[in-house]
Amino acid sequence: MAEINNFIKTIMQSDLDEGKVDSIITRFPPEPNAYLHIGHARAIITNFELANSFNGSTNLRFDDTNPAKEDKEFVDGIIEDLAWLGYKPKNVFYGSDYFEKTYEKAVMLIKKGLAYVDDLSQEEISAYRGTLNEPGKNSPYRDRSVEENLKLFEEMKNGKYKDGEKTLRAKIDMASPNINMRDPVMYRILHINHHRQGTKWCIFPMYDFAHPLQDSFEGITHSLCSLEYDNHRVLYDWVVDNCEIEKKPHQYEFGRLNITNTIMSKRYLRALVDAKKVSGYDDPRMPTLCGLRRRGFTPDAIRNFILGTGLSRVNSTVSSDELDEALRNDLKLKTYRPNAVINPVKVIIDNYPEGQVEYLDCPNNQENEELGSRKISFSREVYIERDDFIEEKPNKKWKRLALNVEVRLMHAYFITATSVEKDENGNITLIHATYDPQTKSGSFNERKPNGNIHFVDASTAIPAEFRLLEPLLLDETEENKDLDFMERLNPNSLIISNGYVEEFLSNTKPLDHYQFIRNGYYVTDKDSTKDKLVFNRTCGLKSSFKL
Ligand code: ATP
Ligand code: MG
Repeated sequence: MAEINNFIKTIMQSDLDEGKVDSIITRFPPEPNAYLHIGHARAIITNFELANSFNGSTNLRFDDTNPAKEDKEFVDGIIEDLAWLGYKPKNVFYGSDYFEKTYEKAVMLIKKGLAYVDDLSQEEISAYRGTLNEPGKNSPYRDRSVEENLKLFEEMKNGKYKDGEKTLRAKIDMASPNINMRDPVMYRILHINHHRQGTKWCIFPMYDFAHPLQDSFEGITHSLCSLEYDNHRVLYDWVVDNCEIEKKPHQYEFGRLNITNTIMSKRYLRALVDAKKVSGYDDPRMPTLCGLRRRGFTPDAIRNFILGTGLSRVNSTVSSDELDEALRNDLKLKTYRPNAVINPVKVIIDNYPEGQVEYLDCPNNQENEELGSRKISFSREVYIERDDFIEEKPNKKWKRLALNVEVRLMHAYFITATSVEKDENGNITLIHATYDPQTKSGSFNERKPNGNIHFVDASTAIPAEFRLLEPLLLDETEENKDLDFMERLNPNSLIISNGYVEEFLSNTKPLDHYQFIRNGYYVTDKDSTKDKLVFNRTCGLKSSFKL
């Protein structure tokens, strides 16, 4: 696997060299209000791989200070996804576990004259804040005495006030060119049930106050976050400096990862689930880690993809083809390559003895002998891909079956199509063919067939559903670039096809990966049962692949 190398690693190395830190301690701080997506994978992999490369450690910390949107379901999902990616946090912490200590720090700020209780409403606070070009205005409550502030803050904590009636604000500078420094709100009142704290607290710290404190309580050395926190760093440092933190953590920002033809923000993912545009967070078209897992992506493919995208201080949009390529590179030599016919048409080999079944050798992976071989059955009736047959060979480039044209059924015999049967709409329902018994694979090379096609023997074939997945969103074009993402949904993102797989797959189980010969990478879906196998297409065999 690729090694992690980026500008943050350089900073960490020099901090160690200069003795600024003794070891590297990072954290991954998701808010448990949705499932993780591939963008989070960048944050996870960056934090864990960097700490690992210095023999340091990484905490998982649930940033659960915003009780309105948080849920145990998401906590469990995040733990599962992290384990699946292969990362083990040194500790699992919850931001809410620090409510007491965070409260004490707020009291400390009040005592130092650096925080005050404000009676302005949320709207008034916004109106007083000023703009990028104009300074803000001081709140009329800004100069309350320390004693009054202490009393009011305690009353806030004890539930005396209604939601939004008061806030605790840092006393910094209403004229600061950085709006985040204009007396940011540090605590707000919310009478709501918290998923871990119940109703113990009715005041909740804001991210900008809670986060640097949580980092310091855990001894985090390098607090990594995405670029949108860039202009919050001054406030982060302000909190760390004024709350008398001994070992100061530092914040570093990196660019967010976006991927073409999908949306990443949790808000949008939730909207898709709520609008039932997808079957859930783990719908295999979703860019969530649980969706990608179900789609057939592997932890190694995701890790290599993320490391391959590099890391810098600019947001990046990467083609989803690169993720597919990482999957192919991971599985190419590892997976079995069974036969599956996705869009079948039956072929009857009229001169093959009725009732006879023979078993032929087939390598499990043509490029990796170590995976051994298996026997595949062959008999008078087989399924081939509809696309592998045309009545009249159109040109020399056609290297598949046609009437009076001979092809090799891979690992079996040469067959020649002789006639077709059609339904009333002119669709081919059956192809008649003959085979040449002398052409058994491995023993015959006296003439060249017009191509090699795969097949599944009808006498042992197992019916299967194939879910042909495509990107959730259509390509961005001049016409659609301003549309809401809901109006850019790809109507063909899920196409279901019913076909057959060889009997070897009868015991397949969810998350088994395969390369179906000539068709692409597939994975067994969780909906798959013994009676009805279901496979998801992870990606095609080549990057230009489009069905
Ligand atoms: P979203 O914007 O998708 O709703 P978020 O940033 O609110 O996500 P958090 O749970 O707060 O989600 O994120 C946890 C960590 O993951 C943060 O440090 C955040 O910077 C990082 N992160 C989230 N999305 C991305 C992304 N697309 N690329 C890189 N890092 C990300
Ligand atoms: Mg966030």
